[in-house]
Amino acid sequence: MSGPRIALLGFSIECNRFAPPAGPEDFSTRCWLRGDALLSDARSDAPQALGEMPGFVARMDETGPWQPRPLMLAMAEPNGPVDHALFLSMMEEWRERLRTLRGQVEGAYAVLHGAGLTTVLDDPEGALQALVRSELGEVPFICSYDLHANVSDSNVALNDAFVGYRTNPHLDMRERGAESADLLRRLLAGERFLRAHRRLPIVAPTVSLLTAQGPYAEVINLGQERAAADPRIVNVSVMAGFAYGDTPFNGLCAVVTATHQGAADALADELAAASWERRHRFVAALTSLEEATRRALASDVPLAFADVADNPGGGGRGNTMWILEAFHRAGVEGAVFGVIHDPALAIEAHRLGTGARFEARFNRDSGQDPFARPFAAEAEVVALSDGRVAGRRGIFKGTTMQLGRTARLRLGGIEVVVIEGRTQCADPAFLEHLGIDIGAARCVVVKSRGHFRGGFDEFFDHERIVEVDAPGLTSPILSRFPWQKLPRPVLPLDSETTR
Ligand SMILES: [Zn+2]
Repeated sequence: MSGPRIALLGFSIECNRFAPPAGPEDFSTRCWLRGDALLSDARSDAPQALGEMPGFVARMDETGPWQPRPLMLAMAEPNGPVDHALFLSMMEEWRERLRTLRGQVEGAYAVLHGAGLTTVLDDPEGALQALVRSELGEVPFICSYDLHANVSDSNVALNDAFVGYRTNPHLDMRERGAESADLLRRLLAGERFLRAHRRLPIVAPTVSLLTAQGPYAEVINLGQERAAADPRIVNVSVMAGFAYGDTPFNGLCAVVTATHQGAADALADELAAASWERRHRFVAALTSLEEATRRALASDVPLAFADVADNPGGGGRGNTMWILEAFHRAGVEGAVFGVIHDPALAIEAHRLGTGARFEARFNRDSGQDPFARPFAAEAEVVALSDGRVAGRRGIFKGTTMQLGRTARLRLGGIEVVVIEGRTQCADPAFLEHLGIDIGAARCVVVKSRGHFRGGFDEFFDHERIVEVDAPGLTSPILSRFPWQKLPRPVLPLDSETTR
């Protein structure tokens, strides 16, 4: 064996301050891999891990000899803050594994979503980065982030290159992993990188942060144009942040990695100014539930309705009933709803079997959840599955998903896919594997804020997507939340905000 020895690790979860805490099962059901299992997953055809680690490993494999030192990678569906005791036990495990590598590695790569919280910490990623530095010393260290990262000063200071996604939906995860590998190779060859970081008092609603069009796309594109024209610029990451993290360092920011400090500073300043110029365009424009119901009844063309306020991909529980209830009451025909998280109902449907008719009682165990209003309707079990689905399109393409026990129910003219697990409906395969023909539906309602766009784009273009204003943990109407830690004043919450 020859080539540089590289430590591999990661911690990836997006945490909504207002959602219930995440526990160990939230990681173990998605992706929690140690040692050789981390590496073999990254090299497999259908990894459990999202794209960064597989992209990094593939690029390192292509670009010369190296010796991977896989430690631990823990990823979960977005949720509430991670139980702090669980995070401490993870830190202890990373510490032990890093300690055995002290003086034994030439570099490190970490996959960090960047919008994590614990029930105690606002910046668990910063704590993990500090641990890597303290155990491994000043070896080249690269971290990659989701563009929804809330970027603390430590997140920028404690690594040598800062690599953030550039697409929303996130279709460039593998590319950013590969880019991280290329930058690590450059550092190993002796280059040194510097960084600049500018944060703005803009906490943008998630729906205003698409990268196909709109203000965020324009700033990202400007950064990429400048990077292409200046060889001193190594990476440009315009990070939108995740409002519901509710941290003191929330705010849209530009992070520039460069070989020259002046070049990094100048470009970061330019991108901050370009973002500020567009500040009044980072707003949500949603459709009321009444109007959405009217369009579902009357539209001549198939439509997709996004339940943006109950997005499991932002910590939502995937179980609110406002749209289903309204469409059912109005007698909407030819609608498909996916995917509703209701373990008790999914398990009951499996017990009753295909063909059974029963009263489907949603949210029977909703407990303290203020958004999980019960709803009941006559239903038929049309199809069942164990919920192991191969991601076909969009952010989950090529990955292996585990939805838990899954049932397709028919409620009058509406088909509903109910799952035991909790995940956002970002991939058509979640519906198709139960025999649903999405192309034949008059409307599709998804529990997803925006990642469904990368999966359902072959059925619905931008003009046929309706973002519905219903209550929920991920409502883009930010004035509805009891913010604790956001820096104030901030746009769009406080109109008097200045730079
Ligand atoms: Zn994201």
